[in-house]
Amino acid sequence: MSFDTNKISLQSLQSLSTHSISVATLRTDLIHPIVSGNKWFKLRFYLEEAKRLKSNTIASFGGAYSNHIVALAAACKLYGFNSVGFIRGEAGNSPTLIEAASLGMKLYHLSRESYKDKLEIMDQYAGENWYWIQEGGYGVQGAQGAASMLSVRDCSAFTHIVCACGTGTMMAGIVAGSTSIQRVIGISVLKNNFDLEESVKKILPSGTTNQFDLFHNYHFGGYAKHPPALIDYMNHLFEREAVPTDLVYTAKLFYAVEDLLKQQYFGNQAAILIIHSGGLQGNKSLPNKSLVF
Ligand SMILES: *Cc1c(COP(=O)(O)O)cnc(C)c1O
Repeated sequence: MSFDTNKISLQSLQSLSTHSISVATLRTDLIHPIVSGNKWFKLRFYLEEAKRLKSNTIASFGGAYSNHIVALAAACKLYGFNSVGFIRGEAGNSPTLIEAASLGMKLYHLSRESYKDKLEIMDQYAGENWYWIQEGGYGVQGAQGAASMLSVRDCSAFTHIVCACGTGTMMAGIVAGSTSIQRVIGISVLKNNFDLEESVKKILPSGTTNQFDLFHNYHFGGYAKHPPALIDYMNHLFEREAVPTDLVYTAKLFYAVEDLLKQQYFGNQAAILIIHSGGLQGNKSLPNKSLVF
């Protein structure tokens, strides 16, 4: 197992482009079948710090469908750390958690109530020399790692860069890694998460003056909600462009870009880059044959 960033390609999307507007996607989903996309980039500097601090165990938090949790399990296995995941909700095992456990992660299921108090949980294990990563990999090092997504391929000619937002960590990195003439646009996949702008600003590396825009109206009902219209869209996009998307993040992202194109949001001339941030393992929770890919 390895994270092969050479596999990342820039794919142009003919069905979204016109003579004056070009659209392409950075396929970071191609890195690895489980740890696809932004999660590896967000984790890399945390892992380096854990190593520097001589922690041999890394602990973090997440829900039963968290891409962050499974990516952390895989990365820890690859780099020789033990991994511990504190999971929200006591319900049974999802495909994501089964995968994480098979990668060697020790899982603790917590009630929604106890999960809320992260400091209390960390306090209980204060005697262990564990390195803690926040839920979703949120934090400055996470953003710094995400910034390096833009340097695997030459992205300098794009006028707009659009990405999906959960915690906003990846977006903070994209803002930091983009040039001052590029506009960065984030599509929030959570319903009414109006704290997102503040969360992004809090972890922007200092000296970053770049601006960004956020959209809150493409969540399709809320986090991980996937009405039939979204599944239809995923199949339709795959048939046109052979781009597989995930139901939590990237399907809503691509849909949003197509909708904004229809509204002529990007003006008369633009070169748009859509960050395909991976997450395809999340589709395993769908019934068989829902998707054509
Ligand atoms: C986690 C994830 C995101 C969101 O990243 P944040 O840094 O939390 O905003 C976007 N896309 C995919 C596929 C993800 O797994």
